Amino acid sequence: MKIDIRNILETYLSSNRGGEANPVCMDEENEYRPMVEITNFLARHSLSVNPKNFEQVWEYMFGTNSDLKADLDRLSAASELNDQSALEIYNKYFDLGLDERIEKIFRDAIEQIRNTKQMIATGNDIAIKHENSLIEQADSIRGNKGGIDDAIQKLLDLSRLMVESTRENREQITQTNEKLAQLQNDLEVARNEADHDKLTRLPNRWKFDRDLTAAFQRQQDEQKPFVLAFADVDHFKRINDTFGHECGDRILRLIANELSFLSDHGCTISRYGGEEFAILAGGRDVDQIFQKIDECRARMASKSLVDVESGRPIGSVTFSVGMAESSSSDTKQSLLRKADVALYNAKSGGRNAICQYSADLEDRKGVAG
Ligand code: GH3
Ligand code: MG
Ligand code: MG
Repeated sequence: MKIDIRNILETYLSSNRGGEANPVCMDEENEYRPMVEITNFLARHSLSVNPKNFEQVWEYMFGTNSDLKADLDRLSAASELNDQSALEIYNKYFDLGLDERIEKIFRDAIEQIRNTKQMIATGNDIAIKHENSLIEQADSIRGNKGGIDDAIQKLLDLSRLMVESTRENREQITQTNEKLAQLQNDLEVARNEADHDKLTRLPNRWKFDRDLTAAFQRQQDEQKPFVLAFADVDHFKRINDTFGHECGDRILRLIANELSFLSDHGCTISRYGGEEFAILAGGRDVDQIFQKIDECRARMASKSLVDVESGRPIGSVTFSVGMAESSSSDTKQSLLRKADVALYNAKSGGRNAICQYSADLEDRKGVAG
Protein backbone atom coordinates (compact mmCIF):
# COMPACT_ATOMS: atom_id res chain seq x y z
CA MET A 1 0.00 0.00 0.00
CA LYS A 2 1.35 3.40 -0.91
CA ILE A 3 1.42 5.80 2.00
CA ASP A 4 0.20 9.30 1.23
CA ILE A 5 2.60 11.24 3.45
CA ARG A 6 1.20 14.65 2.60
CA ASN A 7 -2.28 13.57 3.53
CA ILE A 8 -1.12 11.96 6.77
CA LEU A 9 0.89 15.01 7.65
CA GLU A 10 -2.04 17.31 7.11
CA THR A 11 -4.37 15.07 9.12
CA TYR A 12 -1.82 14.88 11.90
CA LEU A 13 -1.20 18.59 12.03
CA SER A 14 -4.82 19.61 11.88
CA SER A 15 -5.89 17.13 14.56
CA ASN A 16 -2.92 17.67 16.84
CA ARG A 17 -2.09 21.33 16.51
CA GLY A 18 -5.38 22.95 15.62
CA GLY A 19 -4.42 23.19 11.96
CA GLU A 20 -1.48 25.52 12.58
CA ALA A 21 1.60 25.18 10.46
CA ASN A 22 4.44 23.34 12.15
CA PRO A 23 8.07 23.33 11.03
CA VAL A 24 8.50 19.67 10.18
CA CYS A 25 10.34 20.22 6.89
CA MET A 26 14.13 20.04 7.03
CA ASP A 27 14.82 21.65 3.66
CA GLU A 28 13.61 21.45 0.08
CA GLU A 29 15.18 18.10 -0.64
CA ASN A 30 14.29 16.44 2.62
CA GLU A 31 10.79 17.77 2.72
CA TYR A 32 8.62 15.51 4.87
CA ARG A 33 11.55 13.22 5.62
CA PRO A 34 10.73 12.95 9.34
CA MET A 35 7.15 12.13 8.43
CA VAL A 36 8.28 9.46 5.99
CA GLU A 37 10.44 7.86 8.64
CA ILE A 38 7.70 8.00 11.22
CA THR A 39 5.06 6.53 8.91
CA ASN A 40 7.49 3.82 7.82
CA PHE A 41 8.03 2.94 11.47
CA LEU A 42 4.27 2.87 12.09
CA ALA A 43 3.68 0.70 9.01
CA ARG A 44 6.52 -1.65 9.96
CA HIS A 45 4.95 -2.27 13.37
CA SER A 46 1.34 -2.23 12.13
CA LEU A 47 0.60 0.75 14.35
CA SER A 48 -2.35 3.01 13.60
CA VAL A 49 -1.71 6.44 12.17
CA ASN A 50 -2.99 8.62 14.99
CA PRO A 51 -1.62 11.73 16.74
CA LYS A 52 -0.48 9.85 19.86
CA ASN A 53 1.46 7.25 17.89
CA PHE A 54 2.90 10.02 15.73
CA GLU A 55 3.97 12.05 18.70
CA GLN A 56 5.73 9.25 20.48
CA VAL A 57 7.42 7.85 17.38
CA TRP A 58 8.59 11.39 16.66
CA GLU A 59 10.09 11.48 20.14
CA TYR A 60 11.52 7.99 19.61
CA MET A 61 13.27 9.00 16.38
CA PHE A 62 14.21 12.61 16.91
CA GLY A 63 13.81 13.28 20.62
CA THR A 64 16.01 12.85 23.64
CA ASN A 65 13.85 10.71 25.91
CA SER A 66 16.08 7.67 26.33
CA ASP A 67 13.61 5.90 28.66
CA LEU A 68 10.91 6.06 26.02
CA LYS A 69 13.36 4.81 23.40
CA ALA A 70 14.39 1.90 25.61
CA ASP A 71 10.74 0.97 26.28
CA LEU A 72 9.82 1.01 22.59
CA ASP A 73 12.97 -0.93 21.64
CA ARG A 74 12.18 -3.56 24.25
CA LEU A 75 8.60 -3.97 23.02
CA SER A 76 9.75 -4.03 19.42
CA ALA A 77 12.42 -6.69 20.12
CA ALA A 78 9.83 -8.84 21.88
CA SER A 79 7.37 -8.31 18.96
CA GLU A 80 4.97 -6.82 21.48
CA LEU A 81 4.69 -3.37 20.00
CA ASN A 82 1.07 -2.76 19.08
CA ASP A 83 -1.52 0.00 19.48
CA GLN A 84 -2.36 -1.09 23.02
CA SER A 85 1.22 -1.30 24.31
CA ALA A 86 2.09 1.92 22.43
CA LEU A 87 -0.78 3.69 24.19
CA GLU A 88 0.51 2.53 27.56
CA ILE A 89 3.94 3.94 26.75
CA TYR A 90 2.33 7.15 25.54
CA ASN A 91 0.41 7.54 28.79
CA LYS A 92 3.57 6.86 30.74
CA TYR A 93 5.54 9.66 29.08
CA PHE A 94 3.08 12.12 27.54
CA ASP A 95 -0.15 12.08 29.42
CA LEU A 96 1.20 13.44 32.68
CA GLY A 97 -0.15 16.60 34.19
CA LEU A 98 1.86 19.72 33.47
CA ASP A 99 3.45 19.78 36.91
CA GLU A 100 4.63 16.20 36.74
CA ARG A 101 5.87 16.76 33.20
CA ILE A 102 8.05 19.70 34.21
CA GLU A 103 9.23 17.78 37.23
CA LYS A 104 10.15 14.81 35.05
CA ILE A 105 12.03 16.99 32.55
CA PHE A 106 14.12 18.37 35.39
CA ARG A 107 14.73 14.92 36.84
CA ASP A 108 15.73 13.51 33.47
CA ALA A 109 17.96 16.46 32.59
CA ILE A 110 19.77 16.31 35.91
CA GLU A 111 20.13 12.54 35.59
CA GLN A 112 21.52 12.87 32.04
CA ILE A 113 24.06 15.40 33.22
CA ARG A 114 25.10 13.17 36.10
CA ASN A 115 25.59 10.23 33.73
CA THR A 116 27.56 12.30 31.24
CA LYS A 117 29.75 13.70 33.98
CA GLN A 118 30.44 10.20 35.25
CA MET A 119 31.32 9.04 31.74
CA ILE A 120 33.68 11.95 31.25
CA ALA A 121 35.30 11.37 34.61
CA THR A 122 35.93 7.70 33.69
CA GLY A 123 37.25 8.69 30.24
CA ASN A 124 39.51 11.22 31.87
CA ASP A 125 41.02 8.57 34.16
CA ILE A 126 41.67 6.31 31.18
CA ALA A 127 43.27 9.17 29.25
CA ILE A 128 45.64 9.90 32.14
CA LYS A 129 46.60 6.20 32.43
CA HIS A 130 47.19 6.02 28.66
CA GLU A 131 49.35 9.11 28.71
CA ASN A 132 51.44 7.81 31.60
CA SER A 133 52.08 4.45 29.96
CA LEU A 134 53.16 6.12 26.72
CA ILE A 135 55.61 8.28 28.60
CA GLU A 136 56.93 5.22 30.47
CA GLN A 137 57.42 3.30 27.22
CA ALA A 138 59.23 6.19 25.57
CA ASP A 139 61.52 6.49 28.57
CA SER A 140 62.32 2.77 28.61
CA ILE A 141 63.19 2.73 24.87
CA ARG A 142 65.43 5.70 25.38
CA GLY A 143 67.10 4.11 28.41
CA ASN A 144 67.69 0.63 26.93
CA LYS A 145 68.98 1.52 23.51
CA GLY A 146 71.57 4.18 24.19
CA GLY A 147 71.80 5.49 20.58
CA ILE A 148 68.42 6.21 19.07
CA ASP A 149 67.92 5.07 15.46
CA ASP A 150 65.30 6.45 13.07
CA ALA A 151 62.65 3.89 13.81
CA ILE A 152 62.77 4.53 17.51
CA GLN A 153 62.85 8.27 16.90
CA LYS A 154 59.65 7.93 14.86
CA LEU A 155 58.08 5.83 17.52
CA LEU A 156 58.95 8.45 20.09
CA ASP A 157 57.59 11.21 17.89
CA LEU A 158 54.42 9.26 17.45
CA SER A 159 54.19 8.70 21.16
CA ARG A 160 54.64 12.40 21.75
CA LEU A 161 51.89 13.16 19.28
CA MET A 162 49.61 10.76 21.04
CA VAL A 163 50.48 12.29 24.37
CA GLU A 164 49.74 15.75 23.02
CA SER A 165 46.46 14.74 21.46
CA THR A 166 45.44 12.98 24.65
CA ARG A 167 46.33 16.08 26.61
CA GLU A 168 44.31 18.26 24.24
CA ASN A 169 41.45 15.86 24.50
CA ARG A 170 41.69 15.94 28.25
CA GLU A 171 41.53 19.73 28.24
CA GLN A 172 38.38 19.58 26.13
CA ILE A 173 36.89 17.03 28.44
CA THR A 174 37.71 19.21 31.42
CA GLN A 175 36.08 22.20 29.72
CA THR A 176 32.98 20.20 28.85
CA ASN A 177 32.90 18.92 32.38
CA GLU A 178 32.97 22.45 33.75
CA LYS A 179 30.18 23.49 31.38
CA LEU A 180 28.10 20.54 32.44
CA ALA A 181 28.65 21.36 36.10
CA GLN A 182 27.47 24.90 35.38
CA LEU A 183 24.45 23.60 33.46
CA GLN A 184 23.56 21.29 36.29
CA ASN A 185 23.80 24.20 38.67
CA ASP A 186 21.64 26.39 36.39
CA LEU A 187 19.03 23.68 36.23
CA GLU A 188 18.93 23.30 39.98
CA VAL A 189 18.57 27.09 40.31
CA ALA A 190 15.79 27.16 37.71
CA ARG A 191 14.03 24.34 39.48
CA ASN A 192 14.31 26.17 42.74
CA GLU A 193 12.85 29.28 41.13
CA ALA A 194 9.99 27.29 39.67
CA ASP A 195 9.20 26.06 43.18
CA HIS A 196 9.07 29.52 44.75
CA ASP A 197 6.70 32.42 44.69
CA LYS A 198 8.30 35.58 43.32
CA LEU A 199 6.61 38.03 45.67
CA THR A 200 7.22 36.36 49.02
CA ARG A 201 10.03 33.92 48.06
CA LEU A 202 8.09 31.21 49.88
CA PRO A 203 7.55 27.79 48.27
CA ASN A 204 4.58 28.06 45.91
CA ARG A 205 1.47 25.95 45.60
CA TRP A 206 3.13 23.56 43.19
CA LYS A 207 5.86 22.81 45.71
CA PHE A 208 3.30 22.67 48.52
CA ASP A 209 1.37 20.04 46.62
CA ARG A 210 4.47 17.85 46.42
CA ASP A 211 5.24 18.48 50.10
CA LEU A 212 1.71 17.42 50.97
CA THR A 213 2.13 14.20 48.97
CA ALA A 214 5.39 13.58 50.83
CA ALA A 215 3.70 14.26 54.17
CA PHE A 216 1.07 11.63 53.41
CA GLN A 217 3.78 9.19 52.38
CA ARG A 218 5.64 9.80 55.66
CA GLN A 219 2.41 9.34 57.58
CA GLN A 220 1.97 5.96 55.93
CA ASP A 221 5.58 4.92 56.54
CA GLU A 222 5.85 6.12 60.12
CA GLN A 223 2.22 5.87 61.20
CA LYS A 224 2.34 9.40 62.59
CA PRO A 225 -0.15 12.17 61.79
CA PHE A 226 0.80 15.65 60.62
CA VAL A 227 -0.82 19.07 60.65
CA LEU A 228 -2.08 21.18 57.77
CA ALA A 229 -3.15 24.76 58.39
CA PHE A 230 -4.32 27.63 56.22
CA ALA A 231 -3.62 31.23 57.19
CA ASP A 232 -5.76 33.75 55.31
CA VAL A 233 -5.33 37.51 55.65
CA ASP A 234 -8.41 39.22 57.05
CA HIS A 235 -10.23 41.80 54.93
CA PHE A 236 -7.28 42.04 52.61
CA LYS A 237 -9.36 43.39 49.78
CA ARG A 238 -10.08 46.47 51.88
CA ILE A 239 -6.35 47.03 52.41
CA ASN A 240 -5.75 46.88 48.67
CA ASP A 241 -8.69 49.17 48.03
CA THR A 242 -7.57 51.72 50.61
CA PHE A 243 -3.78 51.68 50.28
CA GLY A 244 -3.23 50.25 46.82
CA HIS A 245 -2.02 46.95 45.46
CA GLU A 246 1.68 47.67 46.04
CA CYS A 247 1.07 48.34 49.69
CA GLY A 248 -0.90 45.08 49.73
CA ASP A 249 2.11 43.32 48.25
CA ARG A 250 4.40 44.70 50.94
CA ILE A 251 2.00 43.48 53.61
CA LEU A 252 1.95 40.02 52.05
CA ARG A 253 5.74 39.98 52.22
CA LEU A 254 5.65 41.04 55.85
CA ILE A 255 3.15 38.32 56.76
CA ALA A 256 5.18 35.73 54.83
CA ASN A 257 8.19 36.82 56.83
CA GLU A 258 6.33 36.52 60.14
CA LEU A 259 5.00 33.07 59.23
CA SER A 260 8.49 31.98 58.21
CA PHE A 261 9.55 32.09 61.86
CA LEU A 262 7.36 29.03 62.31
CA SER A 263 9.93 27.04 60.39
CA ASP A 264 11.96 27.06 63.61
CA HIS A 265 9.17 24.89 65.02
CA GLY A 266 9.10 22.22 62.30
CA CYS A 267 6.62 24.00 60.03
CA THR A 268 6.93 24.41 56.27
CA ILE A 269 5.25 27.58 55.01
CA SER A 270 4.05 28.03 51.44
CA ARG A 271 2.10 30.65 49.58
CA TYR A 272 -1.00 28.68 48.71
CA GLY A 273 -2.58 31.43 46.64
CA GLY A 274 -3.40 35.19 46.73
CA GLU A 275 -3.49 36.11 50.42
CA GLU A 276 -3.57 32.57 51.69
CA PHE A 277 -0.65 30.64 53.17
CA ALA A 278 -0.36 26.92 53.89
CA ILE A 279 1.51 25.46 56.84
CA LEU A 280 2.60 21.84 57.06
CA ALA A 281 4.03 20.41 60.25
CA GLY A 282 4.94 16.87 61.14
CA GLY A 283 6.62 15.13 64.04
CA ARG A 284 5.44 17.65 66.66
CA ASP A 285 2.76 17.74 69.26
CA VAL A 286 -0.44 19.18 67.74
CA ASP A 287 -1.16 21.42 70.73
CA GLN A 288 2.35 22.81 70.52
CA ILE A 289 1.95 23.60 66.80
CA PHE A 290 -1.42 25.21 67.52
CA GLN A 291 0.17 27.37 70.18
CA LYS A 292 3.12 28.42 67.98
CA ILE A 293 0.86 29.40 65.10
CA ASP A 294 -1.41 31.28 67.46
CA GLU A 295 1.57 33.17 68.90
CA CYS A 296 2.55 34.11 65.37
CA ARG A 297 -1.00 35.33 64.70
CA ALA A 298 -1.00 37.40 67.90
CA ARG A 299 2.43 38.89 67.08
CA MET A 300 1.21 40.02 63.68
CA ALA A 301 -2.00 41.43 65.14
CA SER A 302 -0.05 43.47 67.69
CA LYS A 303 1.86 45.38 65.02
CA SER A 304 0.71 48.81 64.06
CA LEU A 305 1.59 49.30 60.40
CA VAL A 306 2.27 52.46 58.47
CA ASP A 307 2.20 52.75 54.67
CA VAL A 308 5.78 53.67 53.72
CA GLU A 309 4.68 55.36 50.48
CA SER A 310 2.09 57.76 51.86
CA GLY A 311 3.00 57.70 55.55
CA ARG A 312 -0.62 56.93 56.32
CA PRO A 313 -1.28 54.67 59.31
CA ILE A 314 -2.69 51.28 58.33
CA GLY A 315 -3.15 49.96 61.83
CA SER A 316 -3.11 46.25 62.49
CA VAL A 317 -3.41 43.64 59.77
CA THR A 318 -4.56 40.25 60.98
CA PHE A 319 -4.98 36.79 59.62
CA SER A 320 -7.14 33.82 60.54
CA VAL A 321 -6.01 30.22 60.66
CA GLY A 322 -7.80 26.93 60.07
CA MET A 323 -5.89 23.89 61.18
CA ALA A 324 -6.49 20.14 60.77
CA GLU A 325 -4.66 17.06 61.93
CA SER A 326 -4.37 14.25 59.39
CA SER A 327 -5.80 10.83 60.04
CA SER A 328 -4.89 7.58 58.28
CA SER A 329 -8.17 7.66 56.36
CA ASP A 330 -7.58 11.18 55.02
CA THR A 331 -6.86 11.94 51.38
CA LYS A 332 -5.30 15.19 50.20
CA GLN A 333 -8.72 16.44 49.29
CA SER A 334 -10.37 15.54 52.60
CA LEU A 335 -7.56 17.07 54.65
CA LEU A 336 -7.54 20.30 52.62
CA ARG A 337 -11.26 20.47 53.11
CA LYS A 338 -10.97 20.00 56.88
CA ALA A 339 -8.46 22.84 57.15
CA ASP A 340 -10.81 24.94 55.02
CA VAL A 341 -13.78 24.17 57.26
CA ALA A 342 -11.72 25.23 60.29
CA LEU A 343 -10.64 28.42 58.50
CA TYR A 344 -14.22 29.22 57.66
CA ASN A 345 -15.07 28.81 61.31
CA ALA A 346 -12.22 31.12 62.39
CA LYS A 347 -13.45 33.74 59.91
CA SER A 348 -17.11 33.47 60.82
CA GLY A 349 -16.22 33.66 64.51
CA GLY A 350 -14.88 37.18 63.99
CA ARG A 351 -11.45 36.69 62.31
CA ASN A 352 -7.98 37.21 63.84
CA ALA A 353 -8.37 33.75 65.33
CA ILE A 354 -7.17 30.17 64.99
CA CYS A 355 -9.50 27.21 64.86
CA GLN A 356 -8.70 23.51 64.91
CA TYR A 357 -10.90 21.17 62.92
CA SER A 358 -13.28 18.84 64.71
CA ALA A 359 -16.18 16.86 63.28
CA ASP A 360 -18.79 19.03 65.00
CA LEU A 361 -17.71 22.00 62.83
CA GLU A 362 -19.27 20.15 59.90
CA ASP A 363 -22.72 20.78 61.33
CA ARG A 364 -22.18 24.50 61.17
CA LYS A 365 -22.51 26.67 58.08
CA GLY A 366 -21.20 25.56 54.62
CA VAL A 367 -17.57 25.35 53.63
CA ALA A 368 -15.51 28.38 52.62
CA GLY A 369 -13.81 28.37 49.20
P1 GH3 B 1 -11.57 37.63 54.24
O1 GH3 B 1 -11.25 38.20 55.57
O2 GH3 B 1 -12.94 37.03 54.21
O3 GH3 B 1 -10.53 36.66 53.79
O4 GH3 B 1 -11.61 38.84 53.23
P2 GH3 B 1 -10.57 39.21 52.10
O5 GH3 B 1 -10.87 40.60 51.66
O6 GH3 B 1 -9.20 38.95 52.59
O7 GH3 B 1 -10.90 38.13 51.02
P3 GH3 B 1 -11.24 38.26 49.50
O8 GH3 B 1 -11.13 36.85 48.98
O9 GH3 B 1 -12.53 38.95 49.29
O10 GH3 B 1 -10.10 39.15 48.89
C1 GH3 B 1 -8.81 38.72 48.76
C2 GH3 B 1 -8.04 39.82 48.09
O11 GH3 B 1 -6.66 39.49 48.01
C3 GH3 B 1 -8.50 40.09 46.68
C4 GH3 B 1 -7.23 40.16 45.87
O12 GH3 B 1 -7.19 41.28 45.07
C5 GH3 B 1 -6.15 40.21 46.91
N1 GH3 B 1 -4.94 39.61 46.45
C6 GH3 B 1 -4.72 38.34 46.03
N2 GH3 B 1 -3.44 38.17 45.67
C7 GH3 B 1 -2.79 39.35 45.85
C8 GH3 B 1 -1.46 39.81 45.64
O13 GH3 B 1 -0.57 39.07 45.21
N3 GH3 B 1 -1.18 41.09 45.95
C9 GH3 B 1 -2.14 41.94 46.42
N4 GH3 B 1 -1.79 43.18 46.71
N5 GH3 B 1 -3.41 41.55 46.60
C10 GH3 B 1 -3.73 40.26 46.33
MG1 MG C 1 -8.62 36.96 53.10
MG1 MG D 1 -8.64 34.10 50.72
